[in-house]
Amino acid sequence: MKELRGIPSSNGLAIGKALLHLDDALMEIPRYSITQKQINKEWQRFSDIVAGITGKIEKKLKENPASKEQRDILGARLLMFNDIEFHENVKKRLEDQRQNIESAVWDVSQELVRKLSALTNESFRERAADVSDIARELLNTLLSIQQFSFDSVNEPVIIVAHDLLPSQALAMDKNFIKAIVTDAGSGISHTAIIARSLWIPAVMGTSSASKQIKTGDILIVDGGSGIVFIDPDKETLSHYQKMLKENKARLKADKSLDGHSATTTDGRRFTLKVNMESAQELKKAIAQGAEGIGLYRSEFLFLTEGKTETEENQYKAYSEILKAAKGLPVTIRTLDSGGDKIIPYLFQNDDEKNPLLGWRSIRFSLSMPDIFMTQLRAILRASVHGKVQIMFPLISGMEELEQALILLEQAKSECSAKNQKYSNNIPVGIMIEVPSAALVADKLIKKSDFFSIGTNDLIQYTLGVDRSNEKVSYLAQPEHPAILHLIKKTIDAAHKKGKPAAMCGEMAGNTELIPLLVGLGLDELSMNVYALHEVKRIICESSFKECQELAQKALRCSSAKEVASLLKRNKLTS
Ligand code: PEP
Ligand code: MG
Repeated sequence: MKELRGIPSSNGLAIGKALLHLDDALMEIPRYSITQKQINKEWQRFSDIVAGITGKIEKKLKENPASKEQRDILGARLLMFNDIEFHENVKKRLEDQRQNIESAVWDVSQELVRKLSALTNESFRERAADVSDIARELLNTLLSIQQFSFDSVNEPVIIVAHDLLPSQALAMDKNFIKAIVTDAGSGISHTAIIARSLWIPAVMGTSSASKQIKTGDILIVDGGSGIVFIDPDKETLSHYQKMLKENKARLKADKSLDGHSATTTDGRRFTLKVNMESAQELKKAIAQGAEGIGLYRSEFLFLTEGKTETEENQYKAYSEILKAAKGLPVTIRTLDSGGDKIIPYLFQNDDEKNPLLGWRSIRFSLSMPDIFMTQLRAILRASVHGKVQIMFPLISGMEELEQALILLEQAKSECSAKNQKYSNNIPVGIMIEVPSAALVADKLIKKSDFFSIGTNDLIQYTLGVDRSNEKVSYLAQPEHPAILHLIKKTIDAAHKKGKPAAMCGEMAGNTELIPLLVGLGLDELSMNVYALHEVKRIICESSFKECQELAQKALRCSSAKEVASLLKRNKLTS
């Protein structure tokens, strides 16, 4: 048995046979000179093919694919296939250099790929992959090459590839594709976004999966923790088979919980929400008992759609999600850009030495007031369509919160001056993701309507562990007493002022830790929709009083290990 580790990119568990997808090697690109007379004919071939592909995408868009993310990606591909500059450069090569159409398309695309790949930030490199994808599709059509197509997969498999193109991911049938494992990619790649929207477990960035796995190998893919087992031994296989079975059974059984609230045996009620950006998926989540969106990562809008920075586009997206929430609260987090989420057209400066400690999140928004105010106006205008809450990310101290609030007031005045309506009752809260914020939570709460603890970053900044570096991931321990004390301090500060304390980092969906989080006294947990049923079940079976005792003991522990064994003992005895 071998074990591979990658980036957890889409939650879920899958066991199945691998289907290794090696890139269809493009046949050698024909390269020859054309005559003046042939220029028009070559150009016509290119135009016909672009028109054909455009027609197919438009048809797909009309068929209204499952999620907004998929529509956005199809829309972006439509723009790329019809990019005027790309077309002009291809035509130039036909006219000036008398190249045949295939070599012209190849050379123009490679030039662009080289430029994008040379840039250091990840999003530009993702765009380079998109350009390669589009060039490949054009060339395959020009050369009449039959592409391997995921819609032709008709038995359950786990796809293993060096990289997967967005076009391939969009063609996947979730009835047959049980999981995805890739060497390359990241959690913010288009492919990861699509996998999440299709609820297909995915582990990306494994570096060597396509070299270590053969078609037919039995795999276990744990998308939530980023682990892949190749040809698992009997013990591991039966452990995961059991887990899978339990998950399925629980999902079925837990349906009975759909109409119930998350209330402990002794009557303490918790609010359970989901972290989500898709209106389509939200409908399903609400049916499963989600009480709203606790974290809408607005930067995903900017990452998937090139032109979404306009007020109008944002207004539409926020209105859509608010309408889909049908009166349940939606917490829109203002742009959390930078760090590992570089938005190409907003970030010209990508040479920061420590991007995670640099110009990101609220710091970026406050220094780019036009962009920030545009977003705030869009949220305000959309607020008439539902129950919105505004949340500022990565607040590190009072000055940032005050500045953000001033800009929010300014955005309100601008809307009023234009007679644009907005709700008068919009709670405004902050994320607690930096230790400094937790330490002065008693001050920050005076100007916040709520707190939401972002444990992904809180762990990163408290324990000094880069959250995307697998070499130090063992140190990212949510049970670390330092984290528990910061959480407790945050909750106490909120409660002292009678305000709610939520958690929306991954820790909130970690079923092992729920009794502890309940005992620490959080009011609301917002998580990946997958965890919803299980978290509710645990809460409904717990006694609040016992959880409080457990939390008190955990706060007295001196190490994460000690807390972990306390939780284990608690699980065995309860
Ligand atoms: C967090 O940091 O816990 C969080 C929810 O925000 P993100 O994961 O988007 O940084
Ligand atoms: Mg964060």
